[in-house]
Amino acid sequence: MTATRTSILHVFWISLLLLLLSTAPAKATLLVSPDGSPPPAPYQSWVDGALVPTPPGEVTVSLDGCPGDVPLPSCAPENQHRIELDPAFADRHVVLHELGHVFDDLMPEWVRPRFKALIAPRKRGQWNAAK
Ligand SMILES: [Zn+2]
Repeated sequence: MTATRTSILHVFWISLLLLLLSTAPAKATLLVSPDGSPPPAPYQSWVDGALVPTPPGEVTVSLDGCPGDVPLPSCAPENQHRIELDPAFADRHVVLHELGHVFDDLMPEWVRPRFKALIAPRKRGQWNAAK
């Protein structure tokens, strides 16, 4: 691929990202339970009311907490389009935080530095996409 074509593709993806950030509908994410049914309220309403873009399509939400050697009250396993929540812990902030990890998973690596510069220009040393 030539440098010009690469630059054009980068401009395209950055433009698309900016477009999504400025115009993404609040109902971009549809939460579904592991069995495919809607999760209990109020999770979807928190997503619908989000003031930030949410990941496109369906995201599975499990309400069994986050399994592991050190169980966590919530997590978003990488690249699984899934969030795992403990209902006793999962408030609006936690749900949107975990959806942010799913959104992050979908971001192409080459976009990340520019996205970081747009979102947290003064916190460059503090950016961390860790779960
Ligand atoms: Zn996190």
